[in-house]
This record gives sequence, C-alpha cells and structure tokens, in this order.
Amino acid sequence: MEQAKITYDQLLSENNELRIQLEEANDTIEAIRTGQVDALIVNNGDSHELYTLKTADQTYRVFIEKMNEGAVTINRDGLILYSNSKFADMVNMPLEKTIGLSFSTFIPEVSHEVFEKCLINAWEEDCKDEIQLIGRNHQLIPCLLSCNSLELDEGLALSLILTDLSLLKETERQLKIKNLQLVAARHVTEKLNNELEDTVKERTNELFLSREHFKYLANNIPQMTWTNLPTGEVDYYNQQWYTYTGLSIEDTKKWGWQKVVHPDDLQTTTDKFLSSLRSGEIFEVENRYKRADDVYRWHLNRAVPLRNEEGEIVFWVGTATDIEDQKKEMEKRDEFIGIASHELKTPLTSLKGYLQLITSYKKEDIPVKVEQYVEKANKALNKLQTLINDLLDVSKIQAGRLEYAFSTINISDLVKTCIENAEHIYPANQFEDEDGSDFFVSGNTERLEQVVMNLISNAVKYSQENKKVIVRSARHGDRVRVSVIDFGIGLSEDQKERIFERFYRVEDKKFTASGLGMGLYISAEIIRNHNGIIGVDGELGKGATFYFELPLV
Ligand code: ADP
Repeated sequence: MEQAKITYDQLLSENNELRIQLEEANDTIEAIRTGQVDALIVNNGDSHELYTLKTADQTYRVFIEKMNEGAVTINRDGLILYSNSKFADMVNMPLEKTIGLSFSTFIPEVSHEVFEKCLINAWEEDCKDEIQLIGRNHQLIPCLLSCNSLELDEGLALSLILTDLSLLKETERQLKIKNLQLVAARHVTEKLNNELEDTVKERTNELFLSREHFKYLANNIPQMTWTNLPTGEVDYYNQQWYTYTGLSIEDTKKWGWQKVVHPDDLQTTTDKFLSSLRSGEIFEVENRYKRADDVYRWHLNRAVPLRNEEGEIVFWVGTATDIEDQKKEMEKRDEFIGIASHELKTPLTSLKGYLQLITSYKKEDIPVKVEQYVEKANKALNKLQTLINDLLDVSKIQAGRLEYAFSTINISDLVKTCIENAEHIYPANQFEDEDGSDFFVSGNTERLEQVVMNLISNAVKYSQENKKVIVRSARHGDRVRVSVIDFGIGLSEDQKERIFERFYRVEDKKFTASGLGMGLYISAEIIRNHNGIIGVDGELGKGATFYFELPLV
C-alpha cells in the first residue's frame, strides 16, 4: 500500500516536471522563431552546452515570420518541416500542428495536377504556378505558388512561398465587371451617338430644304419679306426688297430699314415694332417706303413671331405689301363720299324745311292723308339724314377733322336718354338699364350718344329672334365700362377682329340687314378720341356684347 502511494506521488511530480519542460520548450521555440534569442544553453545531464544561432539565420527567420506570404518548407516526402504564422493563418490551424503534415492535405482536388507538376519540376529548377489552397471553413484561396529547392543539413528540401491572390482576383473580377459595364456603356453611347448623328443629318437636311423652300417662296411672292431676331435686328430680306429699295443687305440689315421709311411714318413704325417685340403680338403698320427712284409708296407691314416648343420667340417673319394703289382708290372713294354727302346735305336741308312748312299749316287745313305722308316722309328723311351724317363723319375722320367740344358728362344720364330714344324708335324690343351709379367722364354728349345709339341699333338689328337688349354701366378700375348686350346672331373670332374697320360688313347669306359698315368705324374713332377703348365679346349664334370704356373724372 505504502509502496503504491509513493509511486503515484512520484508519477505526479514527474508529470508536472515534464509539463513544465514542455512549456519551456514551446517558449524557447517561439523565442527562436521570433528572433528574441540567438543563443541557447542546453542542459545535457552533467554539464551545460552553449548553442549560438547564426545572426544571418536569425534575420531571415524574423523576416519570414513577418512577411505577408505563407512560407513552408517540405521534404522529399512532401511533409512540412517548417511553416510560418501566415501559412498557419491561411489554413486556419495552430502553427505547431502544421509541422509534420503532408502539404498536399491543403491542396484541393482542382489544383492537384498543377501542384504535382510543379512539385516534380521544382526539384530540378525554380518554378511558379497558380493553385488553390484549402483555407478557413474549407474556402478555397487562390494563391501564387513559388517553389525553390533548398540544401538543408537534413538533406534537400523545397521552400514554398504562397502569395494570397484573393484580393488581386477580387480586384480583377471587379475590374472585369467594370470593364464589361464600360464596354456596354460605350456600346449604348456609340448607338446614341450614331442615332444623334443621323437625326442631326436628317434635321440639317430638312433645315436646308426648308430654308431653300422658304427662300424660293420668299423670292417668288410679290411682297417684300424679311426675318428679324427677337431683338429686332433684321437678318434676312428677299430679293424684292433689294430690287425695290435699290439697297444692299449691308445698307439695310439690322435697323438699316429705317433709312427708307418716310420720315413722317418713322416714329409710329418704330414704336409699333418695338411694342410688338416686347409683347409678342402681331406687328401691323402702314407706312411709306422709298423706292430706288426716290418715290415713296404705301405699304402694309405685318410680322408674326415664330416660337419654339418652350414658347420662346425664335424669330419674326414679316411682309410688306404695296397698298399704294388701294390707298389711292380709297382716297378717291373718300373724296367722292365727302363731296357726295356734302352735295346731298343741301337738298336734304331744303326738303326738311319744306316738310316743316307743310306741318306748320293749321291741322284742319291739311288733309289726314297728307299728314300721314308727311310723317312717313319725315321718318325717311331722318334715316337719310343719319346716313349722310355717317358719310360725312367718315370723310371727316379720313381728313382728320372729326373735332368736337368736351365737357363733363354724367354717363348714367346719357345712357338713360339713349334707352328712352331706343324705346321710342324700337317699340318691339325690351331694354334693360343696368346702371351702377353716377359716372362722370369728360366728353362730347352728342358724339357719345351717337356711339351708344349705334351699339343699341346694331343690337336690335342683329337679333331678330330675341328682343331683349341690356345696357350696363359699371366701374372698371379708373374707367367706366358701358356694355350693350344682345342675344342675337353673335360674331365669330375672325369677324370680331375686323368689325371696327371702315366699311366692313359680315357677309351672311342667311341673314341680311341694311347698312354700309360705317357705324362701328365711327364709334371706334369717337371712343379713341375720348381716350377710351372699344371692344366686343360674344359667340357666334349666342349674341354679342359691345362695350367701351372711358376714363372717369
Ligand atoms: P352696319 O351695321 O351698317 O353694317 P356697323 O359698322 O355698325 O355697320 O357694323 C359692322 C358689322 O358688324 C355689321 O355688318 C354686322 O355684321 C356686325 N355687327 C355689328 N353689331 C353686331 C351685333 N350686335 N351682333 C352681330 N353682328 C354685329
């Protein structure tokens, strides 16, 4: 029993002794590996022996230990004699456990052949190749394997250096993907570019054709034409312009056209042109252009803006039409109207006088029949009087002699008087006076009454079915607006634009009413002379609203 107990204690202490020796040995190996020691004292029983490690060896050991590549030494049997920490880390194994293992344990099936080939060659000469290494969690690590034979004390060995190519491969892969994307993007760009080039070619061609087309057209119409920039500078004239003016593009480009406009028309022309450039509204003005032989001829200028998809004005296209002959015709006609109406006035006045003489007889001296005829003659005479007055007004307007005295007028009173008149003249119609309050303006009562009566009689004349006419006066900012509203035949947009022109009448086969197209022309002139505006609203078939506005005093 005593014997057995001693043996157990002895064994226990021996075991402890051995464990301490093992730990010491491990520490020593680690110290040698990391270069912390370069000499060892070894106890060999009776005495101590000193082993020094060669300095050069130590440097290499440290170098190999610290390097970023896996380093392994194998013997002829392929067993690992030495490996560095990086290799142990790559294969995810404690370093000491790798020693003595066959290196091929870490080579996967796919790399067997390459590895074997490399191994065979390496004993003869240094070689390199790419292989895979089984790493952490059986993941394959792409590596560059460099094999060099080594002469060791124990015999010939092979040094294997394994460079981890994962990062390189990944970068390569990414690079490949990027490259592919780049190629695809380049293809798309090339395609787009080609398409764009085609479109540009097509457009250029279209543009060329349309420019040629425009030039052809422009040079073959009787009018003079031009194009100008949004700034007003003229950049093109057709041939007719050069022929007419006898001037070159150099003389008349940009604002050069002003040289050939009659001095009396220059201000109005320039003002209207600038105003259209600012507002984008159609430019329309009549003026005289000097011909090459120094003769001035009247022209009607019209220019319309051309806009891009964004609605911005790109340029203007203008035409100047020679209206000299029409002007002369009109002048002759106006002259004739002036003379004729003047000539008609005299017999009309005497007729009126004779009728008055007849009515001045005692009632019982005139037979009833004659009295009726006289009444009818008076009505016809009044109509004739209005017509002649209108004709005289037109010729006065033409001669710039439509003048009259101004005073302060109550528009509400004026409208009331006109409605009373209208009720008397047109008993079949209903008139509504929608009057806000008293509105005072500066003007000529007779002329303004003439305007209101003209609008009312038109409302009656052009609404045969619906007999209601509304006359409304209302404040519009610092103006009073008088509107005459009817529910008759109405007007189209085109008609509305031309309605205030001299002698303009709507041609309507279905509806005929007598008139000469002078009433609205005269009314517009009177309102203009009062510093007012005149206009029309309404729809074809639904009635019209004619209105004018005058500044309040
Ligand atoms: P007139 O009535 O003598 O023809 P106006 O100058 O008064 O001349 O009117 C010009 C034209 O305007 C008329 O011929 C007619 O076609 C149109 N017009 C005028 N007033 C109205 C209205 N209230 N409704 C529809 N059309 C009208």
